[in-house]
Amino acid sequence: MSAQSELSKIRNIGITAHIDAGKTTTTERILYYTGVSHKIGEVHDGNTTTDYMDQERERGITITSAAVTCEWKDHRINIIDTPGHIDFNIEVNRSLRVLDGAVFVIEGVAGVQPQSETNWRLADRYNVPRVIYINKLDRTGANFDYAFSTLKEKLDIIAIPLQFPIGAEENLQGIVDLVEMKALIWEGDELGAKFNVVEIPEELKEKAAEWRQNLLDTALAVDNSAMEEYFENGDVSVEVLKKCIKKGTISGEFRPVVCGSSFKNKGVQPLLDAIIDYLPAPDDVEGIRIAPPEDEEVDENTLPIIPVDPDGKFAGLAFKIINDKYGSLTFVRVYRGVLRSGDTVLNTTHGHKERIGRIFQMHADKRLELKEVHAGDIAAFVGLKDTKTGDTLADGSDPVILERMQFPVPVIDIS
Ligand code: GDP
Repeated sequence: MSAQSELSKIRNIGITAHIDAGKTTTTERILYYTGVSHKIGEVHDGNTTTDYMDQERERGITITSAAVTCEWKDHRINIIDTPGHIDFNIEVNRSLRVLDGAVFVIEGVAGVQPQSETNWRLADRYNVPRVIYINKLDRTGANFDYAFSTLKEKLDIIAIPLQFPIGAEENLQGIVDLVEMKALIWEGDELGAKFNVVEIPEELKEKAAEWRQNLLDTALAVDNSAMEEYFENGDVSVEVLKKCIKKGTISGEFRPVVCGSSFKNKGVQPLLDAIIDYLPAPDDVEGIRIAPPEDEEVDENTLPIIPVDPDGKFAGLAFKIINDKYGSLTFVRVYRGVLRSGDTVLNTTHGHKERIGRIFQMHADKRLELKEVHAGDIAAFVGLKDTKTGDTLADGSDPVILERMQFPVPVIDIS
């Protein structure tokens, strides 16, 4: 897919989790199934793709923990690293600001844990649309219903399952897909394991019908015409249902739930489908606010929003700087316009000019050089001299400053 891909085919997402819930494993599997990482790294070997330093040393390839790009079904997914540790709340804030959606991983034994609650509240603060992924369903003691119940109990949200597991613990075989009303059964649990699409097993049909009714009642409520179609025909098309789920996910009216076991390679491909189907493209969300004037107290909610606009004057936000063997890489999320290698831009936060050198998109095992990067996308720039994390880069003729990070980050009371 070219750098000029349509906005609707881009997803800028984060994967957030309580430590040990399986964020690294899930990211690894995603990179594997999207075909960019041919040798999978296992967490216990200390050579996972997202483990930047180890990879750099071992394979001499450039991988970044800031943003990894992969492709799935003709869409480009930029996975932006969101540190999970509570001590890194500033980092979490910084990355939450530039992503449009997130996969929220919880684990199938313990369900929502205290750190998941903190990360959930942070994501709430930035209105980040989320798909919940209940992982580790193969583990002894894993219980989908229990893990699911902790979503309501601990997060006080309306969660709707789009799937439920077939089998449990070491007998986890697959999932029932409640959107398309079919069953996916995996063959083996090795890497690259394939799944067969089959009819929902007889003994699960009643449960599936009941849960699908729940899904329809919740999802269709976001759209009157979909509800009317349902009343007229007794059902709606998969396409209409998916649109309603996406709408409710973006508005936060409800939170869709998928499940699986990343370690056993079950459920990762449907999770990728859910990212494409339900998490927003850059122009499905509202954009970014301009920064408040430095010396004035203003209500941030009254500040204008810069929508994602491919035709506007360039504006982007530097969200992470990494030093790799090629030098310093500045990761920028572009909100408006186009930026080409060789362009001069204004660092509007500090008021100096910067010349753009080479532009790269970071994949797990290679970096792809781009001539230009467009609104909605993320890229890494080489050679920016005085741009810091949180700075805005913009066209000098429209020197907008995008919202500043707040430091220190206020402590969030989750009691
Ligand atoms: P993170 O801290 O959220 O990044 O979690 P990791 O991906 O590092 O996983 C923590 C541990 O759980 C590792 O030992 C993984 O191998 C293991 N793990 C991850 N996903 C699964 C899963 O689906 N099933 C099982 N049984 N173990 C898993």
